[in-house]
This record gives sequence, C-alpha cells and structure tokens, in this order.
Amino acid sequence: MVSDTDFMQLALAQAQQAWDLGEVPVGAVVVKDGEVIAVGCNQPIGKHDPTAHAEIVALRAAAEKLGNYRLPGCELYVTLEPCVMCSGAMMHARLSKVVFGATDPKTGACGSVVNLFEQEQLNHHTEIVGGVMAEECGAMLKNFFAARRAAVAAARRAAQS
Ligand SMILES: [Zn+2]
Repeated sequence: MVSDTDFMQLALAQAQQAWDLGEVPVGAVVVKDGEVIAVGCNQPIGKHDPTAHAEIVALRAAAEKLGNYRLPGCELYVTLEPCVMCSGAMMHARLSKVVFGATDPKTGACGSVVNLFEQEQLNHHTEIVGGVMAEECGAMLKNFFAARRAAVAAARRAAQS
C-alpha cells in the first residue's frame, strides 16, 4: 500500500530539483489511482514566471496528460503549504485531496494566513491534509536559506579582502 509519506518523498525529490536549479526548494506531485501522473518543481526565477510554483507546474502537466482542465479524483502532494494562487488553481482543478508538508506562516492559504478551503462558498471538492513529513519538508527550506545566507556572507568577505 502506497502511503502519503511515499508520495511526499517524491515531492521532496522535486523540491531538491528546485534547489539544484537555484530556486526555493518546493516540490509537488499529482497522483491518480495510486500512481504519479505529473510532477513539478518551483521555478519562478528561471522561468521568469510568477505563477511557476511547484503546484501550478504539476497541475498544468497533469491536466495536459489527462486532456482535461479538471482533475477530479486526483490528489496533489506538495512540500509546503500552498499559497492563495495555488489554492485557487487547486479548487478550479477540483482536486479530490491536497496533502502538504510544512506550514507557511508567511503565505499559507490552508490555515496559516487564511484558510481558503474552509470557505464553503469557494470549495466543494477538495480535502486538505497538512503536516505530512512536515519536519523533513521544513528542514529542506531552512537549510536552503541558511546556505544562501552563508554564500552571501562569504561573498561579502571575499569582496572586502
Ligand atoms: Zn503557490
């Protein structure tokens, strides 16, 4: 039996790919009938696209694959709590379930800043599960920002010497 943790593990691999591209490490996968049908990693900087969050990239790929702008019966796994934009896209896609890892106190739209999915007038289709492998997902972001700060500090020191 494949569990939420297994799919989150795959989302984390996508997050690592985002990191390798120099992007904030967030990753997502879309699952249908127990199988991954699409993946996405965060890449707004490289793509010059403010909408290129991991979730949107994965939703686009899944919709293209299924030939349908709606994704009923599909589940999306993402390492970080979705923002307002991604939550809106998920509702339009009519996903059956969204599972996220770490919470995002700055932009999270599944309870941290707002909870769009709780709005019964907006959401009729999507169940939300948070906190799956939250520690691992959060640690990757923390490590990324720590490494970036260290790189900036090292560059400053080099410039001064
Ligand atoms: Zn987003």
